[in-house]
Amino acid sequence: MLKNTTGAVDAAFEELAAQMSGTVTTPHDAAYDTARSVYNAMIDKRPAAIAFCRDAADVAACIRFGREKGLEIAVRGGGHNAGGLGVWDDALVIDLSPLREITVDAEAHTVRVGGGCTWSEVDRATVAAGMATPAGIVSSTGVGGLALGGGIGYLARRFGLTVDNLVSADVVLADGTSVTADETDHPDLFWALRGGGGNFGVVTSFTFRCHDIGDHGTIFGGPVLYDFADTAAVMRWYRETLPSLPEELNGWLGILFIPAGPPFPEELWGRRACGIVWCYTGEPERADEVLESVTTFGSPLLVGIQPMPYSALQAAFDAIYPTGLQWYWRADFFTELSDAAIDAHLEYGAELPTAQSTMHLYPIDGAVSRVAPDATAFSYRDGGWAGVIVGVDPDPANADRISEWTRDYWQALHPSAAGGGYVNFLMDEGADRVQASYRGNFARLAAVKAQYDPDNVFHINQNVPPAGTAPSAPR
Ligand code: FAD
Repeated sequence: MLKNTTGAVDAAFEELAAQMSGTVTTPHDAAYDTARSVYNAMIDKRPAAIAFCRDAADVAACIRFGREKGLEIAVRGGGHNAGGLGVWDDALVIDLSPLREITVDAEAHTVRVGGGCTWSEVDRATVAAGMATPAGIVSSTGVGGLALGGGIGYLARRFGLTVDNLVSADVVLADGTSVTADETDHPDLFWALRGGGGNFGVVTSFTFRCHDIGDHGTIFGGPVLYDFADTAAVMRWYRETLPSLPEELNGWLGILFIPAGPPFPEELWGRRACGIVWCYTGEPERADEVLESVTTFGSPLLVGIQPMPYSALQAAFDAIYPTGLQWYWRADFFTELSDAAIDAHLEYGAELPTAQSTMHLYPIDGAVSRVAPDATAFSYRDGGWAGVIVGVDPDPANADRISEWTRDYWQALHPSAAGGGYVNFLMDEGADRVQASYRGNFARLAAVKAQYDPDNVFHINQNVPPAGTAPSAPR
């Protein structure tokens, strides 16, 4: 029986479809164009087939089939990857989106999450129990890619990265067998999964530690926005003040155009600005005292911090950045925000090419820095910021313009950067860049790769080649 959506499975994939409880979509299927699309519309890949997996057995069937037939294998979680690495030309795409089960254990303070979930559904489930686990700042992002690359968000200063809160992972390996990795079982694999991306297997289920936040999940969050002319002063104040702020308070800094729509006041729509989006998750009684110092600095255009469910803050940017826009990314870690870097921010911030293009600096300190750089695969924990520049626009005709601005801005900042960039913010930037991002952890990652994926089956990612081998084509 064929189980694709139209019954038009290519003959070559009938055998796979027959082994799966999920469905297979091929280029002859009416749903193919939807099935191959990812969040970043700049990515236009034509896979051989997209297999929608319902369980670990489906994933194993895909891996075995793909290897037998000599197909490239790509793995897609939420499809948000900067470089679009969830899909690839002529590949068999293992799509995990049907794996959406979420089980919150309020007593144990954990959440078990299917490998194809997005953060919005996880945040809503944990906040209903007054808890959260660290994630990113846009809730339509997939759990799989974000969690395996690191996971930087509002809870990082207080509770660490997403990987610092991973308790265990169910993984289908390159030979099609399944294991559970945690601190005691497959500890090397568990180490590598915490930052090493999709290099080591397909994670069908994650278990994360959760934390009580705010008043039963209600926190204080929102932006403080300043005129762009105040950017240098805001950045200097931010770099000096942030380290002394309580870890219950997190704030990432951005250069942006104020969105032209509610809840922003109409007189501010489209204004070039510098802003810090704050999130306070501590005792509600202390909120006024803690927030005072960050709301009274300078002359803000807007102080938009208010009580809200944590899941609402997590979703606050989803509507501004819907699926299907053109995205061009560049990233670096910064251990300091130097005066030279501030000059570059002023120069390129003044030239933001489109309404949705932006630059963000996410704090890497507090709980993140208390974990040793070699305790997990995620290496850059020295303090400072994870920086990202994104040129974003709906119009494909602007793709070159936003890409050029992003590259130029990155070039100007790079001399003040720490060396590598957060792997989840990289596009397809080559092997050297991946190695620089893992620094001293790269050799151990390559050794674990040689043990768990010696043939580099999983290489449509920020690839770590098995020790003793060169990077595989096409990456
Ligand atoms: P996909 O494209 O599906 O996959 C990305 C990579 O991970 C691929 O190589 C894929 O093979 C692999 N992969 C995915 N799921 C699995 C799995 N279950 N098992 C094995 N391999 C898997 N990151 C942050 O840390 N903090 C942020 O605040 C943040 N904000 C973002 C905002 C936006 C709008 C976007 C687009 C991205 C943001 N990111 C952020 C970056 C994000 O972490 C990466 O884009 C990440 O790769 C997305 O994961 P995904 O599952 O959606 O991507």
